Amino acid sequence: MTTVPAIVAPSVEAPLEPGTVTRRAVGPKDVRIAIAWAGICHSDIHTVRGDWGPQTYPLTVGHEIAGTVAEVGAEVTKHAVGDRVGVGCMVNSCRECDACRAGLEQYCEKGNIQTYGGTDLDGTITQGGYSTEIVVDEDFVLRVPESIPYEKVAPLLCAGITTYSPLRHWNVGPGTRVAVVGLGGLGHMAVKIAHALGAEVTVLSRTLSKREDGLAMGASHYYATSDPATFTELKGSFDVILNTISQSLDTNAFLKLLALDGTFITVAASPEPIEIVEFTLQNNRRSIAASTIGGIAETQEMLDFCAEHGIAPEVEIIGAEQINEAWARVLASDVRFRFVIDAATFG
Ligand SMILES: [Zn+2]
Ligand SMILES: [Zn+2]
Repeated sequence: MTTVPAIVAPSVEAPLEPGTVTRRAVGPKDVRIAIAWAGICHSDIHTVRGDWGPQTYPLTVGHEIAGTVAEVGAEVTKHAVGDRVGVGCMVNSCRECDACRAGLEQYCEKGNIQTYGGTDLDGTITQGGYSTEIVVDEDFVLRVPESIPYEKVAPLLCAGITTYSPLRHWNVGPGTRVAVVGLGGLGHMAVKIAHALGAEVTVLSRTLSKREDGLAMGASHYYATSDPATFTELKGSFDVILNTISQSLDTNAFLKLLALDGTFITVAASPEPIEIVEFTLQNNRRSIAASTIGGIAETQEMLDFCAEHGIAPEVEIIGAEQINEAWARVLASDVRFRFVIDAATFG
C-alpha cells in the first residue's frame, strides 16, 4: 500500500481540504495511474453532501480521471507504462451476471463498484480521482487517443459517456430531432455528440445566456424554457429529449414536446420523484426512460468517437486551492462548461 496526496472531504458539510488516500499495492491485473487531470462532476458534490445516502468519511471523490500508466501488474496485457489512460465512474463489477457479460457493467446485478464511496473487493471504501495516483483493475481502465487534448479528457469519462450511451441506445442519428435540456457539463457534451451523430439538435435552457455557445457546439436551435411560448411553439417537435439537469422540472410540460413515439430520457439525478400525467404519455405514444453512464466497451467507443470527430469538452482548468470555490460555482451553474483540476496541485 502507498499513501498519496489527495483532496478529502472530512465530513458531510465541511469544506474539502488537502489530505491523503491509501492505494493498494499493484496486483497482477492492476494498473497504477499517475493522475494528471481530474474533472469535477455534480455527482461528487451530491455524494459528499449526503444527497444520495450516507457516506464514510474522510472521502476523496472524483470519477473523471485522466493520467498516465506508471506501473502495471505481471498479468496486465491491455496497458503499458507511459500509456495515456482514463478511469470513469466504475472500477469493477461482478463480471458474471447477464449485464456484465453483455458489456453493461454499469447495470451489474450485484451493483458495479463505484470509483469512490463504493465497497471494493477487499472491503475497503473506494477513493476517487482528486488525488495524484490511483490503482485500478486493467479491465476498467480506458485507452485515451492522443489526439484528444490531455487536459480535456477527464470530463469524457463521466459527462461524455453519460450522454453518449443514451444517444446511441435510442439510435440518434441523421434525421433525429433531439432536444438537450440544460447546457451544463453533461448538456454541452450531449449537444456536441448528438450533432456529430448527425442529429438536428435543439437546446432547451432556462435562459438564452449561453445561446452563442450552444450554437457553436452544433445546436441548430436554442430556446429559453423560462419563456412559456417555448412550450407552445415546440409542441410535438422532438424524437428524443435528453434531460441533463439535476433540479426537478415540469416533466409533463417537456413530455408534450415529444413527437409520435418520442422518448424523454433523463440522465440527471434529481432525488425528487417525477410526476407524470398518463394522458400526456398516451398522446403520441410517448415514452419516458433513464440511463446511467455506459459500459466499459461503450466508453472506449465514445473516446474513439470523440477523437475521430474532434470532440472535446469545454473546460476551466483550476488548481486544488480553488476547489471549494469551484464546487460553489458548480452548484450555481456558473462553469464553462466543466472544471478540471490540475493534479499537479494536489501535493
Ligand atoms: Zn459524474
Ligand atoms: Zn455483474
